[in-house]
Amino acid sequence: MVFSLNTKMEIWDRAEGKSELNPNLEGFRLETAHISHQRNSNYNLPSNGLLVTSLEHYAHHLLHLKNPEKIGLNRHHNEFAIRETCKRAEQDAQNLGWDVVKFNTELREAGNRWAVRLGNRIDQEA
Ligand SMILES: [Zn+2]
Repeated sequence: MVFSLNTKMEIWDRAEGKSELNPNLEGFRLETAHISHQRNSNYNLPSNGLLVTSLEHYAHHLLHLKNPEKIGLNRHHNEFAIRETCKRAEQDAQNLGWDVVKFNTELREAGNRWAVRLGNRIDQEA
């Protein structure tokens, strides 16, 4: 379920301490998110990960609520990830003083960024 320490470090180094999806989104904790959770030879490669905020990690799993197989998860595992990432994102947003409207707006924006970023990949795997 997680990257090796070496892979995490490579991703953190590459990202230079900012979200790779939106470097302007600050104040949230940063997490190494798998692009695909499929257990193949790419699973632990730095190219299969992005350093993103908790909010963006949540958005990634939420975006695939109805098609979790596209990120290599079954429905049960993706729903678990949604609950866990949601808790962290809501905590961080609360610490930043965001209201629900701001949260939902930024969540939608994060989903859009993922969709653009993964566009080709999603089509190829469909
Ligand atoms: Zn994830």
